[in-house]
Amino acid sequence: MSRIQLVKDDLTRMKVDAIVNAANQSLLGGGGVDGAIHRAAGPGLLEECRSLHGCSTGSAKITGGYQLPARYVIHAVGPVWRGGDLGEAELLNSAYETCLQIASQHECKTIAFPNISTGVYGYPKRAAAQVALSAVNNFLEANKVPELVYFVCFDPENYQIYQELLT
Ligand code: ADP
Repeated sequence: MSRIQLVKDDLTRMKVDAIVNAANQSLLGGGGVDGAIHRAAGPGLLEECRSLHGCSTGSAKITGGYQLPARYVIHAVGPVWRGGDLGEAELLNSAYETCLQIASQHECKTIAFPNISTGVYGYPKRAAAQVALSAVNNFLEANKVPELVYFVCFDPENYQIYQELLT
């Protein structure tokens, strides 16, 4: 079986060791998937996030999952799309890679990603999917853990793009 699986669902319902949040630098909550994760996890998550003092773009930080089915949340900060000449691809790659490193350090066998930066942050979806898949493929080639990576595509356009790129 492939170590990369595509899912059309709500990330907050995933029963995995870690889900990844598409967070902003403050880590203090936002809209989109971030808002959904905080609503589902309950107030304990925001409290722990406050103790982290933010996160830089291209990086990530881990917390507990609180009321989520997932044990951990890895809060990743993807870049805002500003035309592509400001290191957006490197920063997006780094966000995915950092999540995988953190997951591996915490012995997470399963991890689920949303489509980081492709909502409010405006990163073109196909280009973002190519970066995400290359970051994950490279990491999985070199590491045994995580064993399984889910891409959870909430919007049909992203789902279709991933379906094409994965076949
Ligand atoms: P960003 O600010 O990084 O662009 P957004 O949360 O605006 O983050 O969007 C990132 C992606 O998350 C979008 O593709 C959006 O469709 C998706 N998304 C929103 N809610 C959920 C959810 N509950 N589960 C999975 N994906 C979601």
